[in-house]
Amino acid sequence: MRIIFLGTGGGLPTPKRNLPATALQIGSEIVLFDCGEGTQRQFMSSNASFMKVQKIFITHFHGDHFLGLPGLIQSMNFIGRKKKLEIYGPPGIVEIVDRVVNLGYFSPGFEISAMELKSGESLHFDGYDVFAVAVDHLVPAFGYVLKEATRPGRFLPEKAKMLGLKEGPLFRALQKGRNVKVDGKLITPEMVTGPPRPGIKIAISGDTRPCDRFAKAAENSDLIIHEATLDSSLREQATDYGHSTAMEAAMIALRARASTLYLNHISNRYEDASILENEARMVFPNTFIAEDLMEITLRHRKE
Ligand SMILES: [Zn+2]
Ligand SMILES: [Zn+2]
Repeated sequence: MRIIFLGTGGGLPTPKRNLPATALQIGSEIVLFDCGEGTQRQFMSSNASFMKVQKIFITHFHGDHFLGLPGLIQSMNFIGRKKKLEIYGPPGIVEIVDRVVNLGYFSPGFEISAMELKSGESLHFDGYDVFAVAVDHLVPAFGYVLKEATRPGRFLPEKAKMLGLKEGPLFRALQKGRNVKVDGKLITPEMVTGPPRPGIKIAISGDTRPCDRFAKAAENSDLIIHEATLDSSLREQATDYGHSTAMEAAMIALRARASTLYLNHISNRYEDASILENEARMVFPNTFIAEDLMEITLRHRKE
């Protein structure tokens, strides 16, 4: 799975950081989380095409998180998109999408569906689930957790040989999930495979104060992408505006026993965000600052 940070700023864009948007590539599909103004242009500077976006999840309706929708949708139309686009978000998304789709003289030549989610709701797609969890911001806001489907266990040739099988057609039949017989004895694929392998889990906080519900939903994530608008010296201000400090984000990652933490939604006041990285690493060493157009690839954990 590939993660492309398209916009890692928050509130105001800067020359180095555009407004929030994070793309996840799963197979040939791109799932987009938030769509700040200018997201379509960020796509053009990346190795991903916005025409591959099939689903967009909006965390909340502060302008920095969704004002890229009208331009993105109109450009998709301009390039001749025919495939349906699905947009999900907190209550209000249906009305917002309706307005976006009817701005100016525009009318889309492809279907756009909008769906309001409830906190705790889980959506099942082909190969992965997305879970919405209400977080603690000034307005109704969601964090999202994407979890790949569990994959079947790995075929264990040694085990098969111990049961009297030889490499060849019977091996292949078992690998394809079929039962076989050796000397009249039934051998099922379960007898010669390892335990099921969990899929990759990624949690995206959106804008929030440190939030118990989010920490719980993000438990054992391979990756948490958490907002860290400010550093700890500005904790009071972070509290007033419904944001987290870098250290608070790190404490969430620690509690959730995540593998890796990336910080985004970096305030425009930080020319150099290493102050955020340093304070977070005191709590959660495997922390990194997300930068615009940075790409990371997540691999499945070794069994
Ligand atoms: Zn924001
Ligand atoms: Zn916000």
